[in-house]
Amino acid sequence: MEIKVIFDKAAVTKQIYIGWGLSFLVDNRVLFDTGEKGGWLLGNIKLIGINLNDIESIVISHDHWDHTGGLQSLLQQRKKDIPVYICPGFSQETREKIASYGGKPFETRKFREIAKGIYITGEISGIYKGKPIAEQALVLKTVNGVSVITGCAHPGILKILEVVKEHFKTEKLFVVMGGFHLLEEDKRVIDLIVRESKIMGIEKVAPTHCSGEKAEDIFAQAYGKDFIKVRAGQSIEI
Ligand SMILES: [Zn+2]
Ligand SMILES: [Zn+2]
Repeated sequence: MEIKVIFDKAAVTKQIYIGWGLSFLVDNRVLFDTGEKGGWLLGNIKLIGINLNDIESIVISHDHWDHTGGLQSLLQQRKKDIPVYICPGFSQETREKIASYGGKPFETRKFREIAKGIYITGEISGIYKGKPIAEQALVLKTVNGVSVITGCAHPGILKILEVVKEHFKTEKLFVVMGGFHLLEEDKRVIDLIVRESKIMGIEKVAPTHCSGEKAEDIFAQAYGKDFIKVRAGQSIEI
């Protein structure tokens, strides 16, 4: 299985748009999050050489602008009735917007398979700035084990991984990538999370976005060659 990084805060070439938010494409068919801006998302999709009509479904991790920003432009360009997997906790406004742009919103509270070997965790509750936030992660099963892609990980990266482990008790965790939301955490907390990741047996890590530079450095030190620096335009085999 292949994960293409469509949008992030760094890129492999100067031509690729960078900014806040994330977008990953799994096996050229499932798009996870849409970054902060439609024009940048569509620009990168074109630059990376992806055919829009190959995208079969869209998964939105959570209802924040830096993850939903490209959704409108994408849905307006893409052929109609594409499934958009959201959480029940998303705002009514986002739900209505998806439908009005021609997408088909699907709400999931439960863990489910959306394509062969590709799963969503369903809604996991988190807190952001004192308010509840619903978030889901993408889970990919290959011969190498189970890989997890997170948006911002507002519920906590370890809480998300616990949910994944409940569904794949005997599988090894291969790659964990995305936003780990450790931007404001101090070194002590980050060290603890890194140690816990090692105990959980996570083989490779690819923290980016709201993980924060400090956490990226600490993970890089702890994981060595198994640390993946995420850049738009890059492709990761899992
Ligand atoms: Zn974010
Ligand atoms: Zn967020």
